[in-house]
Amino acid sequence: MRVEELLQAPTLSEHFPLNFKNGFRVSTLGFWCLSCKKPIPLASVHGHVSRMLESVADVTAAASCPCGHVNQYRLRLHDDATCSYPKDGSWVREQVGSHSQVSLFGRIKIVLLCLSIRWKCYRLTRALKTVQRDFRAKHGLH
Ligand SMILES: [Zn+2]
Repeated sequence: MRVEELLQAPTLSEHFPLNFKNGFRVSTLGFWCLSCKKPIPLASVHGHVSRMLESVADVTAAASCPCGHVNQYRLRLHDDATCSYPKDGSWVREQVGSHSQVSLFGRIKIVLLCLSIRWKCYRLTRALKTVQRDFRAKHGLH
């Protein structure tokens, strides 16, 4: 997709928080300008989030920075708290956590805020439920 078309698209802020079926949630994404390295608010980043698979969200976006540089971004968020992006012709996959920075193309930085927090809560809740179930079973409670 051409940059001009991406810039005409709605802002990415409409897509966040992004929820996955397994309970994983991405609160927001932080983008930086490739040229001046200043942060670009999500409301100024335009593009699309496509959900071809339940476990994956494909982000294609562009942002025009006040410095004059037009940035283009491409990344794929997975429901197992990993993020992949194209690098040298193939997709690279990285583990991301709360407030971690993923360096894309060496110069694009994308921050995934509060990314793993809900994910951990979800797993904790599930673990607790299992414990409670075992406890009830052991003591003959229903
Ligand atoms: Zn800039």
